[in-house]
Amino acid sequence: MHFSFLFVAICLVFATVDSSVSTSEIEKRQMPGKGIPGMERLLMPNVFPRTYLDTRCTDGERTRIKTAWDEAKLLAEAQTGNDGRFDHSAVHETWFGKEWNLRDTPLREMRSKAIQDNFEGLARLFGGIQEDSENFVWWCNDHPTEDRCSDEEGEDTDALLGARTWYLEDQDFGQDEDHVINIQHVVFCPQWFDTETLGEQISRYKDDKEEQQFITNFESNAGVFMLHEIYHWKAVASKPIIDYAYGVEDSIKLAREKGTELAFANSDSYTLDALNIYIQQAFGLVTDPS
Ligand SMILES: [Zn+2]
Repeated sequence: MHFSFLFVAICLVFATVDSSVSTSEIEKRQMPGKGIPGMERLLMPNVFPRTYLDTRCTDGERTRIKTAWDEAKLLAEAQTGNDGRFDHSAVHETWFGKEWNLRDTPLREMRSKAIQDNFEGLARLFGGIQEDSENFVWWCNDHPTEDRCSDEEGEDTDALLGARTWYLEDQDFGQDEDHVINIQHVVFCPQWFDTETLGEQISRYKDDKEEQQFITNFESNAGVFMLHEIYHWKAVASKPIIDYAYGVEDSIKLAREKGTELAFANSDSYTLDALNIYIQQAFGLVTDPS
C-alpha cells in the first residue's frame, strides 16, 4: 500500500516535469513566423490565442476579418445566451426540426445532445476557452493548387460563401508524436471580401419594420459566412457539421421535410438559427422573422 502510494507520487512528479517541458516546446513552435512560414500571430481583442494571420493580408482585409469575427461573436452570443425576452425553442424548431430537443429514443437523444454540445462548443470558443493543442490559421489567399475558392461544377460548396475551412493535424508544425497540434485553417476568398457586413445590412433596415421581418435580408454577409465556417470547426462541433443545405429556403425545407435527422449536422441550420435570434433581439421583434 505504502509502496504503491510512493509509486503514484513519483509518477505525478514525472508527469508534472513532462508537461512543463512540452508546454515550453509548444510555445517555442508557436512563435510568430516560426510555426508557420509567412504567418504572424493575429493580435486583436476578443480573439482567442494561437490565431495566425496570413502576412499577405492587406490592412483592409485584416480589418474586414476582424469585423466579421466580431459580428460572428454577436450572433453566437445571441444564440448561446438568453436574455429572457424570447423563447428560443420556437426558433430552434424552425431550423432543427420538431424533434430538436426530444430524447425519447437513442437516436433522437444523440441528435439533441449534439445540438446542445455544439452550442456549448461555440460559447467556449468565443469565451476564449480552448485546448493548448488547438491553433487557428486565417488565409487571405487561395492555395496555388488547391483551388478552394472556385465553385466545383454542379456542386454547392462553401466557395458559394467565399470562404472554406479545413483541418490538419500536426502538419505545418512538423511531426511530433507526443504532442499533436491541431490546425483549423480558413481561407477568405476575393468574393468574401466583396460581401457586405452584417452591420451594413442591419443599418440599412433599422427603420424599416416591414423589411426587418425578412431574414433573407440578412443572410448573405461576411459575419454570417464567418459563423458558417466556425460551425465546421473541430474545436466547436462535437460531431462533424457538414453542408446538407445552404441558405434560408433550403435550410427551412431540410428541417420541415427531414426533421432533425440532417439539420443537427448542417452548418447553415446552426448559423441561421443564430441569425434568427440575433435579428429578433436587435429589432425587438415579437414575431419570428423566419
Ligand atoms: Zn459549409
